[in-house]
Amino acid sequence: MSLIVHKYGGTSMGSTDRIKNVAKRVAKWSRAGYQMVVVPSAMSGETNRLLGLAKELAPSSASMSYQRELDMLASTGEQASSALLAIALQAEGVESVSYAGWQLPIRTNSAFTKARIESIEDKRVMADLDKGKVVIITGFQGVDEHSNITTLGRGGSDTSAVAIAVALKASECLIYTDVDGVYTTDPRVVPEAKRLLTISFEEMLEMASMGSKVLQIRSVEFAGKYKVPLRVLSSFTPWDIDLTEEARSGTLISFEEDEKMEQAIVSGIAFNRDEAKISVLGVPDKPGIAYQILGAVAQANIEVDMIIQNISRDGKTDFSFTVHRNDHAKTLDLLKSQVIPELGAAEVVGDTKICKVSIVGIGMRSHVGVASKMFKTLSEEGINIQMISTSEIKTSVVIDEKYMELAVRALHKTFDLDQDRA
Ligand code: ASP
Ligand code: MG
Repeated sequence: MSLIVHKYGGTSMGSTDRIKNVAKRVAKWSRAGYQMVVVPSAMSGETNRLLGLAKELAPSSASMSYQRELDMLASTGEQASSALLAIALQAEGVESVSYAGWQLPIRTNSAFTKARIESIEDKRVMADLDKGKVVIITGFQGVDEHSNITTLGRGGSDTSAVAIAVALKASECLIYTDVDGVYTTDPRVVPEAKRLLTISFEEMLEMASMGSKVLQIRSVEFAGKYKVPLRVLSSFTPWDIDLTEEARSGTLISFEEDEKMEQAIVSGIAFNRDEAKISVLGVPDKPGIAYQILGAVAQANIEVDMIIQNISRDGKTDFSFTVHRNDHAKTLDLLKSQVIPELGAAEVVGDTKICKVSIVGIGMRSHVGVASKMFKTLSEEGINIQMISTSEIKTSVVIDEKYMELAVRALHKTFDLDQDRA
């Protein structure tokens, strides 16, 4: 029988009652004959609670020694929830064993608080599965080559689950969470948003990197690279619903593009308020300025997203780009103190009251006029576009933050995302 990986998020593991429910659901799958590996997150709020305790003792610091202890600390959340789930399963009469990442081991590099998985040893897991046990593996963590415990970044249990599914050659990885799938946009902004039955990896990657918080981006990259079918579904359906029905629920993130007969042109609208705009005005227009400005920013480890440079007038040009909002002040300081004096630019200004809205769809590859339809809709709403960027399967605009909801709603309607699809 096939091997399946289930991942349960923090809310699904949030209390002993909920853990009991997870155990009953997993027991149902196990009794149906599947080989089961389960990857839980920490109980909801636990990771924040632990990291908060550290902050009470010492303000956060980038030092290696502090970061190491954060991982030592935060990893306990998943260790606790995994053991609790194993106990709950045993109480259900299902043989079960839990492992922390270091016990397998799940090897990572040494980048504390944002480590990357390098390899997973499957021997112990396979032996337990062969004995008919349900194997529980802590999400979010691993161990580096010096036996230090590491964690994979917030939301990292998704990535653990997918990486484990890859290593064990699972036939599917099911991500159980507190929403019942991936939606055309955030239903809190557009109540008419519809659940997607399937979405391609590429679209999901764009949605995830542009603000949809359903899955950690790394997990989608992993799934796409190794072609593991991934499904996002609700852990709040009754545990005893029919297994076949459950296995078909939620949203399938698929790598077979032609699975959808009638491909929608736009599959979803993503948005985020996490960025800020920086403009360097009156820059002499000559070779090397983009490098001088963005090189310095990259050197300071600041990630840049959208970039535009205007045509020049009188040998001067304006240059704008966006960074994460947390990096806004740092970027301004850097430009004012180092780059502007060297460049001889007139001034640098920042704006944090912006947002990015994107339309995403692989159908955009084969259809012209999609972007202009987006621009027309925004103009009809009187919304000014400040920046534009496009790729094969998405178009993003930066607009004033106060029009975000209006823009998302209008675009959702324009692209018929509120209509039921076959
Ligand atoms: N517990 C970790 C977090 O809160 C990892 C996860 O839930 O995926 O970020
Ligand atoms: Mg999560």
